[in-house]
Amino acid sequence: MTENLSAEYLKKLDDVKASYFEITENIARAAEKTGRKADDITFLAATKTVEPDIINYAISLGLKKIGENKVQELLSKYDEYDLEHCDLQMIGHLQTNKVKQIVGKVSMIQSVDSVKLAQEISKQSAKINVTTDILLEVNIGREENKSGVLVENIDELLEKASKMDNIKIRGLMCIPPICANKPDVCKFFDNMYKLFIDISDKKLDNVCMDYLSMGMSDDYQEAISSGANMIRVGSRLFGARIYR
Ligand SMILES: *Cc1c(COP(=O)(O)O)cnc(C)c1O
Repeated sequence: MTENLSAEYLKKLDDVKASYFEITENIARAAEKTGRKADDITFLAATKTVEPDIINYAISLGLKKIGENKVQELLSKYDEYDLEHCDLQMIGHLQTNKVKQIVGKVSMIQSVDSVKLAQEISKQSAKINVTTDILLEVNIGREENKSGVLVENIDELLEKASKMDNIKIRGLMCIPPICANKPDVCKFFDNMYKLFIDISDKKLDNVCMDYLSMGMSDDYQEAISSGANMIRVGSRLFGARIYR
């Protein structure tokens, strides 16, 4: 570590610390506005491109959940995360043939958008005798070439996935389209919240609508206002990414 303790590195840690506390304060404020408490909102840090020692520094500040979006990167950093104090999730698009590499390593897979993917997660989980929590990713903006299930196909996915033995549906996730302004993105968040409540109200067997995961660096406060109870923040915490 010693060679890392350059002024630049120390500045980086200070920035992460300041951002961490700024975000947690903003979360608390946004939660209170909707009659909730800070603890009702799960703060997950999106850690793509971030070095494990920086991630672990954020964990030392109190961060409890991290999410990677690529299998290869997750595996390459896996041994270095401080997973005694933090929980690791998969938040990015997942190919069926890579499922076996991460089942048992992640506590939740947020990006389930097909029966086939759900089936494979259940199958691989059964092999190692675990149950994997999943969120259904919704393509709320109906964007072509974007992952996520379309709203009209959710019922079928819920029905089939809820009957699989080694997965548990814990809620919904979305990445809304890039919007030029806040009111536009809020419409997508509001639609997601309605969907989340509609599904909760159906009280389906083996379906728990515990998490509504939406909101990133530029819009997590709006997402909370619209009813999100999990946000995924990357660049606002760790600084701008050079790529991706
Ligand atoms: C990168 C990423 C985020 C966070 O994005 P930021 O804009 O950096 O906060 C959230 N969700 C997913 C799935 C991501 O890949």
